[in-house]
Amino acid sequence: MSDTLLVMKFGGTNMQDARAIRHSASLAGRSLLVGVRVVVVVSAMAGVTNGLLTLADAAESGDIAAANDEIAALRTRHFTAAQELGAAPDSSVVRDIREMHETLRQAVYGVYLLRELTPRSRDLIVAFGERLSAPLMAVALEGQGFRAHHLTGGEAGILTDHHFGNAKPLPTTYERVKDRLSGLLAAGVTPVVSGFMGETERGAITTLGRGGTDFSATIIGKALGANEVWAWKDVDGVMSADPRVVADARNITVLSYGEVMELAYFGAKVLHPLAVTPLQESGIPLRVKSAADPDFPGTLVQAQAQDEAGQPVKAVTAIRNVSIINISGAGVLGIPEVIASVFDAIARENITLLMVSQSSSMSNVSLAVQSSDAERTLAALRAGVSRELRVDRQSDVAVLAIVGSGMRGQRGVSARLFTALAGQDINILMISQGSSELNISVAIEGAQVDDATRAVHAAFGLGVRAEAAD
Ligand code: ADP
Ligand code: ASP
Ligand code: MG
Repeated sequence: MSDTLLVMKFGGTNMQDARAIRHSASLAGRSLLVGVRVVVVVSAMAGVTNGLLTLADAAESGDIAAANDEIAALRTRHFTAAQELGAAPDSSVVRDIREMHETLRQAVYGVYLLRELTPRSRDLIVAFGERLSAPLMAVALEGQGFRAHHLTGGEAGILTDHHFGNAKPLPTTYERVKDRLSGLLAAGVTPVVSGFMGETERGAITTLGRGGTDFSATIIGKALGANEVWAWKDVDGVMSADPRVVADARNITVLSYGEVMELAYFGAKVLHPLAVTPLQESGIPLRVKSAADPDFPGTLVQAQAQDEAGQPVKAVTAIRNVSIINISGAGVLGIPEVIASVFDAIARENITLLMVSQSSSMSNVSLAVQSSDAERTLAALRAGVSRELRVDRQSDVAVLAIVGSGMRGQRGVSARLFTALAGQDINILMISQGSSELNISVAIEGAQVDDATRAVHAAFGLGVRAEAAD
């Protein structure tokens, strides 16, 4: 047996039905067959997470019939997949799935009775997506002749804080994961871990934020000192833009951890924003790979950036559904007081700021936040800052960012960005550049974001055709 250990993460599309799960198992199998030890981490079947969120909302609003219909549809989907993967009706896996559906039904009924969906109960409900898909992957691996054992995130040792919906691993997680998984690996059994979820010290189920299975995989990778973490996807790798928006988006061969964090933070859905954080200290590489084309190298994410001469920017990303909150009229108070009270109010509410800007003459501060956080931001500011300040909101905004370590110290990058936007008649509402010089971001009208993305992508010559023409 080789000493190599890989953590392999399979996303929702790679788990969407029996056929996809079987293919995913065969991708793990390629490594298992040559003696590599593999830990598999799985997402929910595509669409299941959203389905669970919808049914939880329906239960809270009193529509138990709609919630039950959705549960029944999910049940059919999981049982059909189990059957197609060859699980016998009396097998332990089918029993596990049946029990999980029963617990899910009870949890949803509790929400209905109370008409209350707390972040804690939402996490309990939404984590069933990943809990239900792990046994399916275990069956698929067994069907291909491998020994496998499925575990929830908590059973695998992932212990988190109490931030339901956006939990972070506690430092003790790493030792626990090692303890829980090493024995299985030594016995030649492939652990199949439900991604996206962990649990608190008291056993309450938490989730790590949307897209959190990437994060689960890297947490496990760090805990086990894996050689590499592979995130299998429905795309070739991390691309120069969202391929659904930019037809000629190109695969990026190498990215640094820092670049990937910026990309994910600024809306590239391909990886969870914190996914690379567990890898930074150890330097464990992360590969983003295409399940449809497993021999294609995909994207290698590592400590060191790799820059091409004359190519300062590697990717363009965008966050939609943003609101700008303006705090104005502070002439009498002075900027330091205003900024202190604004940040204090924001910090208390744990709101993520996408951009911040200040114009000193008008003592005006602007914040860009996700629209889903806008009401909370407004309420926090109205309660927390002086009554002399005016607080208002502009909706339907998007933040577009260009990312690349090659921007550092390069002149003319912003000029190219602004010229590309001006060429499309796009007005810039806010501008920011981090001191790391890994990104420049601009807030623009939401309706213009796709045109802006395509124009900026072309202006920096990021597309496939641009490369071919060189
Ligand atoms: P998974 O379930 O495998 O994690 P996701 O749907 O979360 O898959 O992420 C992959 C999707 O991210 C792709 O289908 C693609 O549409 C989208 N995406 C957005 N920006 C990028 C980008 N820069 N590179 C690759 N994919 C991107
Ligand atoms: N299923 C979860 C989501 O849709 C986690 C993930 O896919 O990574 O957000
Ligand atoms: Mg994802």
